[in-house]
Amino acid sequence: MTDTATAPAALVGVYAQPDLVLARGEGCWVWDEDGRRYLDFTAGIAVNALGHGSPVVASAIRSALETGLVHTSNLFPTRPVRELAQLLVELSFPGQVFFCNSGAEANEAALKFARRWAGSTGAEHKKEFVSFRGAFHGRLFGSLAATDREAYQAPFRPLMPGVHFTAVGDVAGVEALLARGSVAAVFIEPLQGEGGVNPVPGEFLRALRALCDRHGSLLAFDEIQCGLGRTGALFAHQHAGVIPDVMTLAKPLAGGLPMGAVVVSEAVGSALRPGDHGTTFGGGPLVASVALAVVRAISDPVFLEGVRARADHLVQRLSTLPGRVPGVKEVRGMGLLQGVVVEEQAASIVSRARELGLLVVSAGPKVVRLIPPLTVSFDELDLGLELLERSLAGAEGDS
Ligand code: PLP
Repeated sequence: MTDTATAPAALVGVYAQPDLVLARGEGCWVWDEDGRRYLDFTAGIAVNALGHGSPVVASAIRSALETGLVHTSNLFPTRPVRELAQLLVELSFPGQVFFCNSGAEANEAALKFARRWAGSTGAEHKKEFVSFRGAFHGRLFGSLAATDREAYQAPFRPLMPGVHFTAVGDVAGVEALLARGSVAAVFIEPLQGEGGVNPVPGEFLRALRALCDRHGSLLAFDEIQCGLGRTGALFAHQHAGVIPDVMTLAKPLAGGLPMGAVVVSEAVGSALRPGDHGTTFGGGPLVASVALAVVRAISDPVFLEGVRARADHLVQRLSTLPGRVPGVKEVRGMGLLQGVVVEEQAASIVSRARELGLLVVSAGPKVVRLIPPLTVSFDELDLGLELLERSLAGAEGDS
């Protein structure tokens, strides 16, 4: 291994990183400084949807740089950001878009917007939120409060108060919470990612829509991990035919450059006033230009059809694992976000896979998560599955 990897890094130790240094990427592959290559089924945690070194991303960056405008701040409008907002609204639901720099920031903004909207309807008392068991919405004080992970929350309390948790599928529980009359918004990932790759049934999303309408609360979908083509539809909620009032996006949005977005309905947008929220970097012309190219590429129906074909292939092959490979309990997910539920610690399988040249990531202690680039080839899927199976087989006899 290189010196860089083994020397004490001057980095805050909040990540447990393996002993390798990545140096280069192309498509579904990355190389470390020692020249070893890895098949990357993490895609930067669902960010590199178009793969590493994507020509779409590279040429968008190049032409954006030619304008000389990397950043302008939101003191002034730029064309790419206006066009991007328009495109996102056309592809989702009528309303407006706020741009920021990450997923957690998008959710923080969404939490604030929901309270602002409630206040504007005369319901100032609606300050609370509903979230779900297994939810992950980010690591800032509001988004962390809506994240169901004791270990992430415990050292940092007090968090934002007023978030109530119930189980996915618990319609009566949500109804009881909304009936209190104090809930500004219900937040849910249509497909939970970090919490263990748990698809949320379409009928539950539809029930939430009806309950939110009945009780005057907003329905907010966090599509930061599952959105933008990952499930084979442009947005995961489109499988259920439910339109939210608020949708948060980030991860793949700007092809690897940091960008988050909150899409809000006309009703929510009209409650927001200058000064209500802001961020210096959000919606800069460079990232917005790249996001425009990425969203155009991903929203192409032919591209999405390709994602569905790849996903069918992956799911079909994964479905043979439980029962055939010892230690595999279940496989679940949607599209190209799949979780393999295992008996042993997922982290051990993740490191064995890496030794074999496959990068995967866990989703909680017992789920190995597969998130290949949406451009993964069928051969790469087959190779990844072969390497995964070998890493799973290595589990035999382990506890
Ligand atoms: N929401 C969901 C569903 C996520 O998966 C993540 C990140 O994994 C976030 C929010 C937070 O995004 P970020 O890490 O960009 O702050």
